Amino acid sequence: MRYFVPDIRVGAANSLEVPKRIGFWRRTAEGPQTAGLRSNATERLGGVPFGLPNALWPKCEECGKSQSLLAQFVHHPDRLDLGRDGRSLFVFHCNHDPGMCSDWEATSGANACIVIDREILQNTATPLPSDNPPIDDEVIIAGWIEKDDGLTIEETSRFMSEESLISLDESVLTKATASTKLGGVPYWIQSPDEAPKFGWTFLGQLDSTYSFLTVPIESRNWISKDRHGFEGRTHVGRGPNFGDGGVAYLFIQRNVDPPKVCMFWQCT
Ligand SMILES: [Zn+2]
Repeated sequence: MRYFVPDIRVGAANSLEVPKRIGFWRRTAEGPQTAGLRSNATERLGGVPFGLPNALWPKCEECGKSQSLLAQFVHHPDRLDLGRDGRSLFVFHCNHDPGMCSDWEATSGANACIVIDREILQNTATPLPSDNPPIDDEVIIAGWIEKDDGLTIEETSRFMSEESLISLDESVLTKATASTKLGGVPYWIQSPDEAPKFGWTFLGQLDSTYSFLTVPIESRNWISKDRHGFEGRTHVGRGPNFGDGGVAYLFIQRNVDPPKVCMFWQCT
């Protein structure tokens, strides 16, 4: 089964810096890195959204405060099918007081997955709301690397319920990678039965660490060398708070247009 991992770079030193120009999608993987990418490159993990109208910045339905950005992705027919070119997915969660609002639940209102069309996007970084939601460290996605986990379609389907998952051999289970990815199969920490049913399919997952596949050209105090090279990474960065080593799962429902996306997370 194909899946895609982000090739990330450190973002601008100050993620709230107002960008001077629009710069979409620089693929630096093919050449030497010359600088950390600016925060106006479109796809990212953490930081602040780029192009999201301020009025659409979601508020937590439990505490009423502005949520924090986890990821911004753009439609791609193979990697992230949102049904239309130029569509973007913004994933948020409440991070004001971790553990207090139920951001781990798909239906709590303490997280939000927003799909919007290109025509609605603006050409600027979204201003931070006045209640100052905590901002995660930002990495920019310079490109995506296609991989294959070697799972058959039948094996893939068995990752979607606890009953069928526990019958899989360890050699099959270990093919599910834990790092952030789009496509493939979920790396479950708890039961697959927490996932939404009836038309929802797995879209991707967000890890609570950032995996750098190349050496970051700029140092940050939240990035360190990974001596173990976990899943091929050279360095690991502090990512979002999903409890103890958690992973967030994205699921999509495509029988509506635009499609609905939901998020929930699990930890050890
Ligand atoms: Zn909240």
